[in-house]
Amino acid sequence: ALSVPDKKVDSVCPYCGVGCQLTYNVKDNKILYVEGRDGPANHGRLCVKGRYGFDYAHHPHRLTKPLIRREGMPKTGDFKMDPDRVMDVFREATWEEALEVAGGKLARIRDTFGKRSLAGFGSAKGSNEEAYLFQKLVRTGFGSNNVDHCTRLCHASSVAALLEGIGSGAVSNPVMDVTLADVVIVIGANPTVNHPVAATWIKNAIKHGTKLVVCDPRKSDLARSAHRYLQFKPDTDVALLNAMMHVIVSEGLVDADFISSRTIGYAELEQNVAGYSPELMAPICGIDADTIRYVARLYATSKASMILWGMGISQHIHGTDNARCLIALALMTGQIGRPGTGLHPLRGQNNVQGASDAGLIPMMFPDYQRVDNPAAHAKFEKAWGMKLDDKPGLTVVEIMDAILRREVRGMYIMGENPAMSDPDANHARESLAALDHLVVQDIFLTETCYLADVILPASAFPEKTGSFTNTDRLVQIGRQAINPPGDAKQDLWIIQQMAHKLGLDWQYGHVSEVFDEMRHTMPSIGGITWERLEREHAVTYPCAVEGDPGQSVVFTETFPRESGRARFVPADIIPANERPDAEYPMVLITGRQLEHWHTGSMTRRATVLDAIEPDPVALVHPLDLSAMGGKPGDVITIESRRGTVTLYARADDSSPRGAIFVPFCYYEAAINKLTNAALDPYGKIPEFKYCAIRVALG
Ligand code: SF4
Repeated sequence: ALSVPDKKVDSVCPYCGVGCQLTYNVKDNKILYVEGRDGPANHGRLCVKGRYGFDYAHHPHRLTKPLIRREGMPKTGDFKMDPDRVMDVFREATWEEALEVAGGKLARIRDTFGKRSLAGFGSAKGSNEEAYLFQKLVRTGFGSNNVDHCTRLCHASSVAALLEGIGSGAVSNPVMDVTLADVVIVIGANPTVNHPVAATWIKNAIKHGTKLVVCDPRKSDLARSAHRYLQFKPDTDVALLNAMMHVIVSEGLVDADFISSRTIGYAELEQNVAGYSPELMAPICGIDADTIRYVARLYATSKASMILWGMGISQHIHGTDNARCLIALALMTGQIGRPGTGLHPLRGQNNVQGASDAGLIPMMFPDYQRVDNPAAHAKFEKAWGMKLDDKPGLTVVEIMDAILRREVRGMYIMGENPAMSDPDANHARESLAALDHLVVQDIFLTETCYLADVILPASAFPEKTGSFTNTDRLVQIGRQAINPPGDAKQDLWIIQQMAHKLGLDWQYGHVSEVFDEMRHTMPSIGGITWERLEREHAVTYPCAVEGDPGQSVVFTETFPRESGRARFVPADIIPANERPDAEYPMVLITGRQLEHWHTGSMTRRATVLDAIEPDPVALVHPLDLSAMGGKPGDVITIESRRGTVTLYARADDSSPRGAIFVPFCYYEAAINKLTNAALDPYGKIPEFKYCAIRVALG
């Protein structure tokens, strides 16, 4: 007989940034099934991950005891993922012993080698409160700003451009505004796969007359429903976007009033795009001049045009320049500050917005208050009652390099898996293995855990309560539905115990106490109380004072820059760091697939999702596949200058010829061994979306 739940618990989906609300149906501490709730972002809808991706929480691989590395066990960067082998490498420990070893040794490294010899990675999968406490622990307990998380690998370049241009890194309008737009441009994003419920709102908008323009080297499902699809060549974003701006300027389609009253720097932008005519750019980007002109006119002249983008824009060494162009497009046409317009960098993880807001980044205190700004620095020294470092810390990739220089010697990683997610993963693994001391807090024995000295068993999403901020700036409550297994503990408890070992006297009780401290240091959420979140489930920020309904559309009157005006920043073409050549003639593009989430630690342990996509695959254009003498299902080997993986080929004509797409969730074929760690100089984001490879059958 079908089990009947004995309780229903309202929460949010643990996966993407859309932030769908859901209900866990629970019996005997087990989630039976999940239903969609009528939340502002999803109105009852869920995608396959949200609906079926929950039983990872009950998987037998869950870490249930603290583990300490056995004496003398070598740390090998390359390994077979084998949880059965774990007790050869680690031994079980009590929490008391594990915390003493974990925190005690970090404290000794700090005291011996200085405050900047430690670093921490928090997680966009954790709650706002966990992110806040984690960064506070690094800043006050470790004593430096060496704290970062996967935002560095995601939208760091978009945020750099947005902060520079319009003074805020968050979206200007919610996804749902696509239903109010006449024209929507989706560029460098594949929402059907990565933000599936958001994609359904875009498709709804199309049905009601919105014209969708998709610009992407890969032909996504959404491109098939588009009014125009621009399959530009990989790495030519700036050429295409500058050509569109050239048309808007040369044909007098700019919004002169908006430019003169609300922006600065237009003259330099205008001068720069003069050299980027569609005719000149067409052979570079692969889009004919007439189409560029048509799309530019369409965007500029509609009553309301909106731009959404993803990692295809951000994960380049010119990611900041790509985003600068999108910002300039919106500013020169006045397509921002009204419903149905604006800029929406689609956030990846369910709490990457909130974790960044909460200060899990090396150059900013919570709410993007710079650590080297004297007023912000003084404010946080007063709030936290101690001296703080005023030098921005190292970013994700910089920390890996600093480890090999022996500048960083100890790390605390909560819920991130850099052994899989960092670019040039062999290098990242070598760095992690070179640490004097690595503490990893997670729910599974991830690839990063294999390199740890101490592993602290943490809580899965449904096992704790906290707030999470979605891509729309909606702060929502995720509620505890089940208890953690065995001796696994809640992350907030673990962070506090670690803080004690580092000499901090923290006594937070309920999660709401952390949230309350946050809102008193973060003006953007100052008006959101925990009681209100519990009552309303979701509140949008900025929400300055209690009673403020929250602003879903921002920049209506002014931009949050000192002058109140947005700033144009021109961009020129900068080629990818590693171009194809005779030796490595093809291009690798990495990303996600619908059924699996990031490094796969959760979704590959979710029964339904793993059944749909069980094996590592590369998406290869059918003509490229047959040119190499292969057929769908054949095994291929992909090699870059940094590594090699072997996996199955899937014929897929959405990939352009000469480019291969591989998801980064498969440990057996960890594609980030191949990717290039070259960084965008502003956002410090690596170039995941472009590197040179060669491919062979077998
Ligand atoms: Fe979860 Fe995103 Fe799917 Fe919604 S669209 S159910 S938030 S993965």
